[in-house]
Amino acid sequence: MTRIGIITCSNCTQDLDCAAVVCLGDLRKRKGFFADYPREERLDLIGIINCAGCPTVGAAEKLLRRVRSIAAFRVDAIHFSFCMTALCPFKEKYARLIRQAYPDIELVMGTHAPRDPREFQGEVRDLLCGSRWTMADLIKGRPSNDWLMRG
Ligand code: SF4
Ligand code: SF4
Repeated sequence: MTRIGIITCSNCTQDLDCAAVVCLGDLRKRKGFFADYPREERLDLIGIINCAGCPTVGAAEKLLRRVRSIAAFRVDAIHFSFCMTALCPFKEKYARLIRQAYPDIELVMGTHAPRDPREFQGEVRDLLCGSRWTMADLIKGRPSNDWLMRG
């Protein structure tokens, strides 16, 4: 049995509400970055957690607290989600820190079958920067639907 943990990008799972269904689907179907595990080996998802958010220029180590929350449960491999590999400017630094802190855990740079990273980056930018209701709208009074449609 291989015990697996997954770390996702907070922009996708927290800001954009992704429930990691495609990551988990490919784990179940052994596609994408789960295809290389031996067929006879059972895959056990031990935990999934999102990144701790922007680490600033000086605090990449803050991700290690999140990693510990799954590494403490005897995981064999930690996967960075596809979104993390496609979007995160800190991924190489994070990977170095995790390899130093947990040399016995295999680090896999991906989850579900990858898409074109540039296309994905553009789509995520549109979602993150598009118009949506905020508390400011409630405080100031809701804008009309026209305003929303114009974006
Ligand atoms: S890799 Fe895809 S499915 Fe998985 S958490 Fe990120 S956006 Fe969601
Ligand atoms: S630090 Fe990287 S993984 Fe974390 S939210 Fe920001 S882009 Fe996503």
